[in-house]
Amino acid sequence: MQRSPIEWLQIPGYSPRSWNNVRGCEKVSPGCAHCYAETFAERFRGVEGHPYEFGFDFRLAPFKLEEPLTVPERCAVFVNSMADLFYGGNKHDKAENPTEYIRDTCQVMLDADWNIYIILTKRAERMRDLLNGDDAVFREAAEAAHIWWGVSVENQKHGLQRLRILQETRARTRCISFEPLLEDLGEVDLSGIDWGKVGGESGVGYRSMEKKWVTNLMRQMRQQKVQRHFKQWGGIHKKKSGRELNGRIYDEYPKIVKELEGREVPSHKERMVAIEKLRAHVRERWMDHPLVANIPDKMQPIYLNGATSGSRVPLPLFNED
Ligand code: SF4
Repeated sequence: MQRSPIEWLQIPGYSPRSWNNVRGCEKVSPGCAHCYAETFAERFRGVEGHPYEFGFDFRLAPFKLEEPLTVPERCAVFVNSMADLFYGGNKHDKAENPTEYIRDTCQVMLDADWNIYIILTKRAERMRDLLNGDDAVFREAAEAAHIWWGVSVENQKHGLQRLRILQETRARTRCISFEPLLEDLGEVDLSGIDWGKVGGESGVGYRSMEKKWVTNLMRQMRQQKVQRHFKQWGGIHKKKSGRELNGRIYDEYPKIVKELEGREVPSHKERMVAIEKLRAHVRERWMDHPLVANIPDKMQPIYLNGATSGSRVPLPLFNED
């Protein structure tokens, strides 16, 4: 898992990371217009052996499923920052992330329960249908205190519908990413929502965000007791425009974070047992799947730091981030 500079992953006591066990996606709404993941992925289309050799076409990366188990520190993990875990949930999607693969992702999150996982989707219906269904793994993941489920809300037309679907989802912790915020959302019912993150678009061609849209949302979150995070104003130089709103920084996190205090990373030996079990399953079930991404010839060995000895132990499987 790569370290991530994303502001809302900087939860005190956790190492901020992104975990991309699928790659590729399709645009679904105006919030996707300047998708950074697509821009990045398409740059490498056709580059033989590169993780994004197939550009932004959907692919599975099952050799990365084990990553949350390998890091010897507690992490705040953005799950699939370069894709959408519930890909296949939109009628225009050209392929589908298999339900069984999403279940395996949930199982890893349940096994490595010393981390916090944040999932954001624009395919809210599929998330709701899986989490509200009868499958025991999905039900457990929906109720787990360390797994936070969320949707992106960029405008009224597409975003507010996702918000309503999230409210129907039987998740213990629900969050919303109001990013990139593209218009005033008006009066919003935020019941059942634990955490809201607001941000403007950045980079070339950015669509600017008005202060009154932000203050309207922040006011409603305060009134409806939603924890607030203001990520950025955005713009060409997002560092320059900063993340201060009315003279302060908003860095709140869901209150459930307190419940997670005291969880410890298991020993190297315990994690190795879990990793070997998962590898056996991955080899048997996923490595020959037609949607699996290319596995580069020169793969870098994963190193698992011994929690007690601090030694670096090379493992036979690989990580190509
Ligand atoms: S859903 Fe997310 S990953 Fe997919 S195209 Fe839109 S912004 Fe990009």
